[in-house]
This record gives sequence, structure tokens and C-alpha cells, in this order.
Amino acid sequence: MQNYHNFYRKNDPVSPLGVDRLVEMLSLEGAEMELLLEEAGRCRSAVVGDGVYLRGLIEYSNICRKDCHYCGIRRSSSIACRYTLTEGEVLECARYAFEKNYGSIVIQGGENRSEDHISAIVRLVGKIKELTGGRLGITLSLGEQTGDTYRRWFEAGAHRYLLRIETSNERLYKSIHPCDPLHDFASRLRALEDLRNTGYQVGTGVMIGLPGQSMEDLARDLMYMHDLDIDMCGMGPYVESEGTPLAASRLPRLPLGKRYDLSLKMVASLRLLMPDINIAATTAMQAIYPEGRLHALRAGANVIMPNITPGKYRESYFLYDNKPLSFDSNIIEKNIRYGEWGDPLRFSRRSGNR
Ligand code: SAM
Ligand code: SF4
Repeated sequence: MQNYHNFYRKNDPVSPLGVDRLVEMLSLEGAEMELLLEEAGRCRSAVVGDGVYLRGLIEYSNICRKDCHYCGIRRSSSIACRYTLTEGEVLECARYAFEKNYGSIVIQGGENRSEDHISAIVRLVGKIKELTGGRLGITLSLGEQTGDTYRRWFEAGAHRYLLRIETSNERLYKSIHPCDPLHDFASRLRALEDLRNTGYQVGTGVMIGLPGQSMEDLARDLMYMHDLDIDMCGMGPYVESEGTPLAASRLPRLPLGKRYDLSLKMVASLRLLMPDINIAATTAMQAIYPEGRLHALRAGANVIMPNITPGKYRESYFLYDNKPLSFDSNIIEKNIRYGEWGDPLRFSRRSGNR
């Protein structure tokens, strides 16, 4: 068994981990897997500390122009209720997060490029800044937009953006999206570059256990995130959403339990590969196992996104089966860093703030 702690002590000037080694790490089972997870937990403690940062998740709208084969709110889904929160509802959520001392919020939703939507977000971000005296951090996760839109939202006061690459393997990407210009792999890569050039703290991530995905694909996903020099990552297991083309396909797939273990190993390996970034313990982990997010924290994650969407909308943002509607944070209470933005150390270092 490799002694992994050598990796993070080098503080990652040039990562010593390559695809072959990562495949080995992702293939560990049983006691060896546990050692990897523990090592990543120690790496997290040593480099970014034991603090857990909260981002209140606001599921802003389930209206989407895209038709991703895996997603429960895709354009073709026959969802009973398509909704967009009103300005008042979003401000109420922001006020709640602020009063609960969460430090940050995430506004997430389907991809919508209409001017109405774009300017609504500009207004919302400005009003949240005003409401909280600029003290509540704002992350957006609203899909691929033009560089100009990203700039408008950034200038309004959003400072982080999450856009998953979903998979860095172009062939696999094509197999889980419709084949049309709206779902173009090169555009996805360009959007991530635009976000970085605009000045955002950039987060990306992948789905783990997609039909047709190999261990080498996942190792290459980790290297992709490393090479993009991301600040944040949110990744988790692919979970079937009934009625979607990917759920219905006959492609071979891993059982949920294996996807779960693989997700923990991905979190741990990324922590060792990029010790100073922020890594979210994602909701999809909890969809498979009730303590999923807690396990991800132990394996090196340091961010939790409790859902603060008004209750009546939660069932309409149904991305995949068994999606949990809430998270009990009592169990990690002592480690929660209330009132802090919790910017990724990597971003601060890159910007010369430390
Ligand atoms: N529309 C934006 C976008 O796609 O970037 C943000 C919202 S989208 C619902 C957020 C993430 O949900 C996607 O990046 C995708 O990885 C994840 N997701 C969608 N369907 C999923 C599924 N069946 N299993 C796991 N994750 C899923
Ligand atoms: Fe829309 Fe995002 Fe779902 Fe794709 S993953 S269908 S872009 S909400």
C-alpha cells in the first residue's frame, strides 16, 4: 500500500499523481480503501483545516432549455409544475441564510438565456448584496451562458460559479447528451474558460458511475480538474431519474453501492491531488446512503450545501430518484464555520492574498 501522505506534504507545486496512480487509488477496496479515505481526511485537516462551510442552496427554477439524458428536470420531462421563484421568495431565502449565519448561498437552476432571466439574476444579486451589506457570499450555478452574461452577473456581485464538466471524456459526454449545438462539448469547455477569465472562483465536477464510464475516465476527470486549476469541486454519483433516456438505456452500469464507494474514492483522490481547494459533500451521496454527506466530509470534503428552497417547490426540482429534501447538520455542528465565506485557499493563493 502506497504511503499517500507524501503527496500533500509537497503542497502540490507540480502534482506527483498521474492517471495510472489515480486508477490504482480508485480501484482500492476494503481496508485499503479505508486507508485512502483516512489519509485524505488527514490531508484536508492539515491543509485547509477541519472547518465545514455552509452554502444555502436555492433551487431557483426548474425551467431549462436543455435536454440532458440523465436529468429529471430536462426540457422533455413531463413535470407537473415548472416554476421560477419570485424575487421576494429568493430574498426571503437569502435573509434566512444570512440570519442563520450561513456565510454564502448558491442560486442554482435550469439553463435559461432569455434577457428576462439574465436581468432578473442581475437584480437579485444586487438586492441580496444590499440586503446583507455585502456580507453574504453568492455562488451561481445557472448553466452555460455567454461571456457577457457571466460578466454582468459578476459585476452585480456574484463571485463563484459552479458548472460541472459532467465527464471530461468527449465521447462519453456525447453519449449522455443530445447530439445538437445546444449540448456541445467544446462550448462547455469554453464556458469554463470564460468563467475563469471573468474572475470567478470556478467550480466544476463530474458524475460518477455513468453507464459506459471507465476507471480511466474518472482518473482523467481528476487530471482535467487539476489541469484547469479549479477552485472548487462538486461531484457525486450518477443516480437514475425515472423516465429519462439514460435511466431507460440498457447500457451496463455499476450498482449504486459501487458508485457510492467510487464517489468517496474520487473525493479522497481529488483532495490528495489538489489539497487546497474546496470540495462539496454532495446531495447525491445522501440519495444513496443517509449518511452519505458525512462520509464525504470524512473523506476530504469541506463544504455542505443545505437546501433552503421554500418547501413547496422542492419536489419539483427532482433531478434524480430518492433525492433527499433536507440534511441534518447537527452531527457536524462543532466543525461548522458560521458567518465565514470560506473562500478556497487555492483561489486566495493564486490571487496573491496570502
Ligand atoms: N442547469 C445547471 C447545469 O446543468 O449546470 C445547474 C443545475 S443542474 C440540475 C446541476 C447538476 O445536477 C448537473 O451538473 C448534474 O451533474 C447534476 N445531475 C443532474 N441529473 C443528475 C442525476 N441523474 N444524477 C446525478 N446528478 C445529476
Ligand atoms: Fe438543464 Fe442542468 Fe438538467 Fe442539463 S443538468 S437538463 S442543463 S438543469
